[in-house]
Amino acid sequence: MPLAYDMPLFRPPSEANSLIIQATIGCSHNRCQFCAMYKMKRFRIRSFEEIEVDINDAARVWPDATRIFLADGDALIIKTAVLIKILKLLHFKFPLLERVTLYANPGNLLIKSEDELRELRENGLKILYYGVESGDDALLKRVAKGATPGQMIEGCRKATNAGLELSVTVLLGLGGKSGSRGHILKTAELCSKIGPRYIGALTLMLGPFEETFGKNVGEGWQPIDKKQSLQELRLLVENLNVRNCIFRSNHASNYLPIGGTLTQDREQMLELIDRAMADPGYLRPEFLRGL
Ligand code: SF4
Repeated sequence: MPLAYDMPLFRPPSEANSLIIQATIGCSHNRCQFCAMYKMKRFRIRSFEEIEVDINDAARVWPDATRIFLADGDALIIKTAVLIKILKLLHFKFPLLERVTLYANPGNLLIKSEDELRELRENGLKILYYGVESGDDALLKRVAKGATPGQMIEGCRKATNAGLELSVTVLLGLGGKSGSRGHILKTAELCSKIGPRYIGALTLMLGPFEETFGKNVGEGWQPIDKKQSLQELRLLVENLNVRNCIFRSNHASNYLPIGGTLTQDREQMLELIDRAMADPGYLRPEFLRGL
């Protein structure tokens, strides 16, 4: 320690206080048009021996860690037998460990059987962070997400049946100006069918890649502005038909951080969005987005 991470290293906002063990490098899919997180990395699964060295090093300096996040982009790609070995070692080395979490992509969940997912849950895997991005099938194809809404429902259903919690993210702005409404309504519909424990909204931030993204996803794609981003957030909250689901827009890419449990906090969240629409003073300044 400190562990020699292969940078850059990403983790969900809710894993800010977790120990991070890098089990894979990069993302096995790595083709989503809107995502530059791992473009500079060649994907590989680290060997169990490499991971074991990191776990042993970390256990020497942080033996009382209670939360561990397995990076990078989709550690669920690791063969189930090896993941179970990793989970067992983590629980042995960190006796106070309460939960292990990781990013999963749609392809990972399609490959694993419900029984395999159940075995992972029984060995301490608790939450899968899963990028839905959109419920619009045509848009998912254009951005090369690599899965249809139907495949996402199938994979997520297996995970839920296996007792795993899902924390899904959706991407405001992905449909651009003209596709905005369809993107959000279909996304709300898909998330409602999945019924995850958590939903996080992020706002698309392309920076210098905006032009290339526009060209790749099709002529006519135009980014939404701040006002439309709030309208999308409102439309999403209005149309999510989920129960006991914690909704958040606290990611740094968003103009307005809100949070609550759906459906009981829906009206309060809508009121806050309406207030922010009337008074831009509520909004995160542009220069602070993404920080
Ligand atoms: S699957 Fe996730 S990490 Fe991989 S390229 Fe797509 S958005 Fe990025």
